[in-house]
Amino acid sequence: MSYTVEIIGVGTELLLGNTVNTDAQDVSQVLCDLGFNVHFHTVVGDNAERLNNAVDIAKKRADIIITTGGLGPTYDDLTKQTLAEAFGKKLIFNEDVANQIMAFFAKRLPTMKMTENNLQQAQLPEGCIIFDNGVGTAPGCAFEAEGKHILMLPGPPRECRAMLKSCVEPYLKKLSEAEIHSHNIHIFGLGESAVEENLRELMQSLKNPTLAPYAKDGEVMLRLTAKARTKEEAETLMSPVLAKVHEVLGDIIYGIDTHSLEHTVFKLLTEHNLTVSAAESCTGGLLSKRLTDIPGISNVFKGSIVAYNKQSKSLLLGVSPELIKEKHAVSREVALAMADGARLKFDSDIGIAITGIAGPESDHSGQPPGTVFVALTTKDHSFCRTPHLFHDRERIRIGCANHALDMIRRLLTGVNVEL
Ligand code: ATP
Ligand code: MG
Repeated sequence: MSYTVEIIGVGTELLLGNTVNTDAQDVSQVLCDLGFNVHFHTVVGDNAERLNNAVDIAKKRADIIITTGGLGPTYDDLTKQTLAEAFGKKLIFNEDVANQIMAFFAKRLPTMKMTENNLQQAQLPEGCIIFDNGVGTAPGCAFEAEGKHILMLPGPPRECRAMLKSCVEPYLKKLSEAEIHSHNIHIFGLGESAVEENLRELMQSLKNPTLAPYAKDGEVMLRLTAKARTKEEAETLMSPVLAKVHEVLGDIIYGIDTHSLEHTVFKLLTEHNLTVSAAESCTGGLLSKRLTDIPGISNVFKGSIVAYNKQSKSLLLGVSPELIKEKHAVSREVALAMADGARLKFDSDIGIAITGIAGPESDHSGQPPGTVFVALTTKDHSFCRTPHLFHDRERIRIGCANHALDMIRRLLTGVNVEL
């Protein structure tokens, strides 16, 4: 049987925008990994009538209803009462749970007097399975009624996450016949719509596995997802599709299940035992920041110079003032001279440089925002890309850093660097 799931977040703070519904994200991730179809996320305030209405709707469209929040001891914690009532179950006082709550207070909060209302947390729907709360007081629980599975989890994310792992996963694994496995295919050099266009027929023809594109920060990721009884079966389903995607997209795929472009570059530089240094103008150090986010990068990244105006391009990178005057600070020639400057100053194998107009205004020469030059030089080679970037200042700068990283990646994988 293929189960459909609805997750109901209970809490007025979620509706007010004070709290982000991270519990829904955590629960969904676990369920999707286990092969369940999460069809709905609902959020409802701490209000019995509206929660009751939400449960009525959920009953009609889901096999499994999972609530988060409202299990605590205060007057607005009414999830258990409402759900029990909605499914015609009584709440029964559980001695063992009450003792556990008292023991929790005695051990973890010895200076605090436990208030009576805490024992309300020991009221649980008749016949339920109790989910111990390893990190807080309110236990969760699960029961079956009217052919549905009802699971209730605490709201605090730390408690919710711990209970997902220790109680919900084992409970659901018993129900689930399928697992979901996926691969993330990372692409740089083609927009989301162009990727989709190239793969539309394939995507539309697929049922299991499925292939879906996601765009983020100037990159595209394709997620290939298969549902099967075992990981091996899922891999067997995915491998011909993976091969087909490789065949269609070729070297614009920079990694499968990798973290980021910078991680790919780090790995390649390490494998080739090569070093890089950077000269950044319009990115103001963004490329260096992204590289130095990676622990251990100092083995391959020697440093960078942020040379934001013409004078510092000459002073710090040795770019000739005449060249800047003749060609303009945002030009192919100056980008290449900056890359050489960084490479020589830091004595690295590769120099990479970025100069451009991040906007929002054009510069005095009238070049529009998004005019950028990204240069890479080695002892023997020089390359320069002039991608036309658009959108806002932030996205132009992210795009520049992406291109710089992609140029290094392509150099080290032996494919055309300039595109
Ligand atoms: P408690 O015992 O703390 O009262 P509870 O199960 O009754 O736990 P709530 O009272 O609904 O849970 O929420 C407690 C806190 O947990 C909220 O203030 C909020 O910060 C956080 N929280 C609740 N629901 C969510 C959610 N869906 N996503 C993220 N955080 C949440
Ligand atoms: Mg509460």
